[in-house]
Amino acid sequence: MATKILLVEDEPKVSAFIRRGLEEEGYEVQVAYDGPFGLRLALGQAFDLLILDVILPGSSGIEVLKAVRAHDQELPVLMLTALGTTQDKLLGFDGGADDYLVKPFDFVELLARVRALTRRRGPRTTKGTQLTLADLMVDTAAKTVVRAGQPIKLTAREFNLLELLLRHQGRVLSRAEIAEHTWEEAFDTGSNVIDVYVNYLRNKVDKGFTKKLIHTVVGMGYVLREE
Ligand code: CA
Repeated sequence: MATKILLVEDEPKVSAFIRRGLEEEGYEVQVAYDGPFGLRLALGQAFDLLILDVILPGSSGIEVLKAVRAHDQELPVLMLTALGTTQDKLLGFDGGADDYLVKPFDFVELLARVRALTRRRGPRTTKGTQLTLADLMVDTAAKTVVRAGQPIKLTAREFNLLELLLRHQGRVLSRAEIAEHTWEEAFDTGSNVIDVYVNYLRNKVDKGFTKKLIHTVVGMGYVLREE
C-alpha cells in the first residue's frame, strides 16, 4: 500500500517538482493549491503525511495546521517556509508541526524528512508514547528507557537527546539540529557540548552491548540505527 501524502503548495512549479519527485519514489501525492481546499482534503481523507506551505491563498499554512491539529494529533506535518522566516513564526507552528524545511531546498533533503516522518507511523511507534529500535525501548510518557530488559537511568537532557535520535532513527542529525531541538539556551556551536552528551548517552545505552545503536557519521553528525 502506497504512502499517501497531501501537499498543500500554491506555487505550481514547486508543487509539480515535489509531486514528481515523490511519485518517482513510490509515494502517492495529492496536491491542493490553497488553504481551505487543503484543509478539506486533510480532514476528509486519510493521509500518512501533510506537507504544508506557510504562505497560501485563502488561509495560511499555520491556520490550516491549527485546524488539522484540532481534529488530528497524529498526522505528521512538515512545514515549508520561505527563507528569512522569523524565529517567531517558526515558534508559532512549533507546537503543531513535526518538522520544517526552509525554501529553497534540495529534493534529497525533503525526501529524508518525508522518510523520517512517514516511518514514525510505522510499527516501531506504538501507542504514541513508546519508541523502539532493536532491543531499546523508550516510553516518552513514563520517561523510562529499557535495553534488553535492563532499565537505564538517564538525565533529562540525555533522555531528550535519545528521544530525538529515536524519533528520527535512520536519519543523520547534524550537531546544529540536535542543539536546536535539545538545548533551549543558545551556546557556542563551536563547542563540543553535543559530542560530550552523545558520549554520556553511549556510555549508558551502548556500552556493554555488542550491537551499537548510536553512530557517528564523520563530518555530518549522529544517527541512531541498527548496523
Ligand atoms: Ca506559497
